[in-house]
Amino acid sequence: MNIDFQGKKVLVRVDFNVPLNDAFEITDDTRMRRALPTIQEILEKGGSIILMSHLGRPQKKLKEDGSINVEKFTLQHLVEHLTDLIGVEVLFCPTSRGEQAKEMAGNLQQGQILLLENTRFEKEESKGGEDYAEELASLADVYVNDAFGTAHRAHASTTTVAQYFDKDAKCFGLLLSAELKNADKVLNNPERPLTAIVGGAKVSDKILLLEKMIAFVDNLIVGGGMAYTFFKAQGGQIGNSLCEEDKLELANELIAKAKEKGVKLLLPRDSTIADNFNNDANIQKVASNEIPDGWMGLDIGERAVADFSEVIKTSKTLLWNGPMGVFEMENFANGTKSVAVSIADATKDGAFSLIGGGDSVAAINSLGLADDVSYVSTGGGAMLELLEGKTLPGVKAIAD
Ligand code: AMP
Repeated sequence: MNIDFQGKKVLVRVDFNVPLNDAFEITDDTRMRRALPTIQEILEKGGSIILMSHLGRPQKKLKEDGSINVEKFTLQHLVEHLTDLIGVEVLFCPTSRGEQAKEMAGNLQQGQILLLENTRFEKEESKGGEDYAEELASLADVYVNDAFGTAHRAHASTTTVAQYFDKDAKCFGLLLSAELKNADKVLNNPERPLTAIVGGAKVSDKILLLEKMIAFVDNLIVGGGMAYTFFKAQGGQIGNSLCEEDKLELANELIAKAKEKGVKLLLPRDSTIADNFNNDANIQKVASNEIPDGWMGLDIGERAVADFSEVIKTSKTLLWNGPMGVFEMENFANGTKSVAVSIADATKDGAFSLIGGGDSVAAINSLGLADDVSYVSTGGGAMLELLEGKTLPGVKAIAD
C-alpha cells in the first residue's frame, strides 16, 4: 500500500461476513485472518484504524416489529476474537454513524483500532447512499478497501465512500490487491494450456463464465449438476438429474462454439447415480447419457475423473469454480475430491491454480489442500464477476 499512514486515521472496509453458530460463535474465521496483513501494515506504518464491515443481511431478516435484529447481526460478536488475532485491543462503536461514531473516531490515538457496527444496519448502505458514505468518509483521512468479497456491490462503504477521498488518499488493501493480481494471472496472458473447471448446480448461474471461458481457454471441463443439461441437449437420457430445460439450446450453442474455437470441452463420461437425493440412497455407476428414470447423477464417475485428471495434470494454468457433485454428501464427494487432488498435483508440478470462490473453496479447505494450490479466493460472487470480465464497482471507485 503506497500511502503514508503515519499519524493518519485510516478507514478500512473489510469483509468480516463470517459464519456464526446459534451461540454467535465464529465457525470459520478465514475472512478475518485474510484481512490481518493490511491491518498490521497500517499499524506498523503509524496509522490508527477504523474498521467497517457488514455481517449477514440484517435488512432482509428484520424482527417481527420491523426493527433490526441487533442481537443476531451485531459485529460485537467479533470483537474478542479480533482482539486476539491482532494482539491489540479492538474498541467497538455500537453504530457506524452519528455523534457517537464521530466522537469515538475523533478520540482514536495512533496504533488504536475501532470497529464500527454492521454497515448494513443502515438502509442506505446497500443503496450506495451518499449521505451515509460522506458521514463515513468524514471519520478518517485515508480510505482503504480490502473487502474483495463485496467489491462487486456498489454499496456506500465499498464504493460511494471512495469519492470523498483524493486519489492519493485511497488504495486497495493487500488482500484485494492479491485477489486482483491472481485473477489477472488467469485473465491476461496465462501460461498455456489454460484449463477452466466449472461445476456446481446450475448452468444458469454460470452462463457468463462459460461463455467467457469458451472464448479463450484451451480446455473447458464441465462437471456437477450443470453437466446433465448438456447431455440432455445432446439427446442423452438423464433420468431425474438436474436439468434446466430453458438452457438446452444454450448448451448446444456452447458445444458448437467450443468446436468452432478449437476448445476441448470435456463432460463427465460417466456418473455415480442415486435413486434418492440422499447419502444413503442406492448407488450405480453408469454412462452419463444413459441414466434410467427414477435415478439422478450426483457425482462424476471414475472414467470422468481419469479424463479430467489427465487434462488437469498437463495444464499450466487452472481455474476451478464449482464442485463436481454433491460433495456435501460423503458418497458423492469422490469426483470433487479427485479434481482437487489433481489440481494440487499439477500445482506441485509448476502450474498456477486459482480456486475461484464459493463451494470449490469449501471443498479445497475441507480436504486440507488450501496450501497446495496457488491461490484460494475469498470472494464467490466477486471472483465470478471478475472472471466474467466485469469491472467491479469497488475496484473502479479506487482506480478512477
Ligand atoms: P454452485 O453454488 O452453483 O457452485 O453449486 C454448488 C452446489 O451444487 C453444491 O451444493 C452441490 O451439492 C450442488 N451440486 C453439484 N453437483 C450436483 C448434482 N449432480 N446434482 C445436484 N446438485 C449438485
